[in-house]
Amino acid sequence: MLTCRRATERLSRSLDVPLPVVEKIGMEGHMLLCGHCRRFRRQIVILDAICKDVGDRIAGEETALPASARQRIVAALAQSETGSEP
Ligand SMILES: [Zn+2]
Repeated sequence: MLTCRRATERLSRSLDVPLPVVEKIGMEGHMLLCGHCRRFRRQIVILDAICKDVGDRIAGEETALPASARQRIVAALAQSETGSEP
C-alpha cells in the first residue's frame, strides 16, 4: 500500500495533470482505506477551486481597461485620424 505521503503527492499532482492509470489505481486504493487522505482530498479540491476562482478574477481585472482609459484611447485615435494634436 502507498504511504500517505506518496498518496497525497499523487493527489496534488492529479489536480494539474492526469495520472498514469497505475498511479491512479494505487492512489484510489489508498483513499479507500485511509480516512486522513480522504479528508485531505476534500480539502485540497476545495482549495484548488478557490485558487482557480481567485486567479480567474485577478486575470479578469488585469485585462479589463477602465472606461475612462478606453475613452482616452478612442479620443486619441480619432484625433490621430484627423491629423490634429490632442
Ligand atoms: Zn493516507
